[in-house]
Amino acid sequence: MSDKSYIEKVLRPTIQSTPGQSEFYQAVEEVLISLEPLLKTEPKYNDNNIIERIVVPERQIIFRVTWMDDKGKIQTNIGYRVQFNSAIGPYKGGLRLHPSVNLGIIKFLGFEQVFKNSLTGLAIGGGKGGSDFDPKGKSEGEIMRFCQSFMTELYRHIGGTKDVPAGDIGVGGREIGYMYGQYKRLTGLYEGVLTGKGLNWGGSLARTEATGYGSVYFAENILNKKGDSLKGKICSVSGAGNVSIYTIAKLYEYGAKPVTCSDSKGTIYDKNGIDIALLKKIKEVDRKDLSEYAKARPNATYIPLAQYPAGTNAVWSIPCFAAFPSATQNELNLADIKTLYANGCRLVNEGANMPSTPEAIEFMLENKMFYGPAKAANAGGVATSQLEMSQNASMLKWTFEEVDNRLKGIMKSIFDLSYATSKEFGDEGNLMLGANIAGFRKVADAMIDQGAV
Ligand code: NDP
Repeated sequence: MSDKSYIEKVLRPTIQSTPGQSEFYQAVEEVLISLEPLLKTEPKYNDNNIIERIVVPERQIIFRVTWMDDKGKIQTNIGYRVQFNSAIGPYKGGLRLHPSVNLGIIKFLGFEQVFKNSLTGLAIGGGKGGSDFDPKGKSEGEIMRFCQSFMTELYRHIGGTKDVPAGDIGVGGREIGYMYGQYKRLTGLYEGVLTGKGLNWGGSLARTEATGYGSVYFAENILNKKGDSLKGKICSVSGAGNVSIYTIAKLYEYGAKPVTCSDSKGTIYDKNGIDIALLKKIKEVDRKDLSEYAKARPNATYIPLAQYPAGTNAVWSIPCFAAFPSATQNELNLADIKTLYANGCRLVNEGANMPSTPEAIEFMLENKMFYGPAKAANAGGVATSQLEMSQNASMLKWTFEEVDNRLKGIMKSIFDLSYATSKEFGDEGNLMLGANIAGFRKVADAMIDQGAV
């Protein structure tokens, strides 16, 4: 049996036994296809049935979250924590609060997280969680009551050396604070059980900035390898949340000009460069949508969602050299990448998880574009979360520069490892192949060492 048919043999029962999880199958298929050259040369992975085992989470926890709204009505949401793989360390991965959350989304994110965490070189397994709760339009009290109720079930499944959640879409410092407070109240423990904590109660400097900064460090590594850099380049960023804001900030530091951002309501094109102070005020302080940006900067163009050409994302219609999708999954499709390429874009660096569709990735690889895959490019967040755990465990606090320098070093080593692995398997520069194989190999070897667990 060829390795391809072996991969199909795995995917079919996965789809049959867990129907309706399209994002999860997409994530699995991408990894399995990349693994083909490894499986050909290393029979031990097939001999130990690693593929069949690695696509099944070790544990999936689904629970009811009830909370009282401001009108005194009891609301119900679904909570999830998928503890995917603990072969190389305690489960680690964020919590997402968004109405689109379901088990398939959490499984895709958890699966990706396993390989991403492995790539960082740190001892962290993979997990992910969240809820279909929509924080938009909720009062402070409602957010707090939801977070407390969510943690009232989650607390029994997590712990500093067991499972350490962090933020993701809809979960920032505020939500981590409410969840941490409830964890502490229920357990009586003051431990590093969540990362992304406040700076005066266990958080790490540079954690907030880490995913965006790390994404830019990774992109700069890609370009440096080709004797180029981000300096003077026009860049397009999607999203207007944590990852996007700090991607934009670091792009400026590298001498690039980020000209776009977007949210769930529309896209901003500011040809003079995104005004980062204004963006932060609108999204981090006022929690409003980007139409406010255009009101404050009349020279900027605002494209509301309703005006996006059918089947495309308007943020990718703006000419740029480098695109940084940093909002959500499948936000950049084949039509988008064709437009980007025709307009001169040569680098796509993924800040979000799985933002490019398989067809868009195929186009990038066929056209020899520079491509920074999410598992590698956005690993700076989780790597810095692990640095927060290290500081908590040692009761020390490092300076911003110390954490940032470590982050920069980790992003360089992820790039080097992914690049070297792509070369080892005969497709030099294909960082998707390199990242998937390198991330997988470490976890798979640990699974073999640990026997049938
Ligand atoms: P935030 O909630 O801070 O920001 C998300 C941004 O994306 C918001 O501007 C939001 O719009 C926009 N967005 C979300 N969903 C959609 C959608 N369906 N369509 C259009 N826009 C959308 O999240 P983060 O910045 O933390 O996360 C962004 C991405 O990065 C996610 O894929 C996440 O998994 C990934 N990531 C995050 C890490 C982290 O450390 N935070 C680490 C690694 C990856 P609006 O403002 O209208 O809500």
